[in-house]
Amino acid sequence: MTEATKPPLDILLCAPRGFCAGVDRAIQIVELALKKFGAPVYVRHEIVHNRYVVDGLRDKGAVFVEELTEIPDDGQPVVFSAHGVPKSVPENARSRQMFFLDATCPLVSKVHKEAQIHFKREREIVLIGHAGHPEVIGTMGQLPEGSVTLLETVEDALAFTPKDPERLAFITQTTLSIDDTAAIVRVLTERFPSITAPHKEDICYATTNRQEAVKRIAGQVDAMIVVGAPNSSNSQRLREVAEREGCPVSILIQRASDIDWSRLDGIRSVGVTAGASAPEILVEEVIDAFAARYAVKVELVQNAEETIAFNLPRELRLSAAE
Ligand code: SF4
Repeated sequence: MTEATKPPLDILLCAPRGFCAGVDRAIQIVELALKKFGAPVYVRHEIVHNRYVVDGLRDKGAVFVEELTEIPDDGQPVVFSAHGVPKSVPENARSRQMFFLDATCPLVSKVHKEAQIHFKREREIVLIGHAGHPEVIGTMGQLPEGSVTLLETVEDALAFTPKDPERLAFITQTTLSIDDTAAIVRVLTERFPSITAPHKEDICYATTNRQEAVKRIAGQVDAMIVVGAPNSSNSQRLREVAEREGCPVSILIQRASDIDWSRLDGIRSVGVTAGASAPEILVEEVIDAFAARYAVKVELVQNAEETIAFNLPRELRLSAAE
């Protein structure tokens, strides 16, 4: 196809999109640990939910494991992923005298602290989140088994019976759908008016900003492409948000080669965004793939500015400065 015969296509590029401060910090921790301590650096679970990032770090010498039992006693560091870990994980690492670096996002750690405070104040805790997600496993694992009840849906909130409705608190996963969570919270606050809510929203700024940016353009485009991994909660939510806002085709892809072009037949405009764990290079790849088939006009739709950055662990700050 020549440039002249390509059909026109408007690409609306969401901003903010892609890496958040927690993901950026987690990747830096692995990279700096490799630089300072050499390979191998063990990483418990995918450091962030993105295959491209994981493969890149593996090539540099990171070794990904699911449990500490897979790691030999060779004195090399182990990094805990951005999603957070149950309390038993650092306890086990300490008992084996392992050197560990915690890449848990500070905004996930904030939710862990809230859970601990509620527990100390003898409140029954409800966690709104998705069963089986590592963040949920990590948050529930901050407290003894049975202290936290997981609610996933409005139906769960309607069916929930607390021990004492006067001593109840809720916390949430950081990467949920804003609208779904609001609906669940509405049910809880209507049923239990004394329930204690987080002082500041648990859904993080990055999740919020990316969903708002998608909402802004989803009604204007013929299709929405979300770059992200199928096991990335915030990426899945972006795909759903676009669909619910009436976008006729909303697709989550890991990279450009996953695009099913047959689903995009006849489109004149497309929105592009990326989950918080998807690197910008994969977004560029998608835009290039569209440019190979269409005469594209790219417009940036900026919905918010992000300036948040998190401190690195003490052990790595000096290496970062060098
Ligand atoms: S999505 Fe939010 S909670 Fe998760 S790592 Fe990024 S900033 Fe932290």
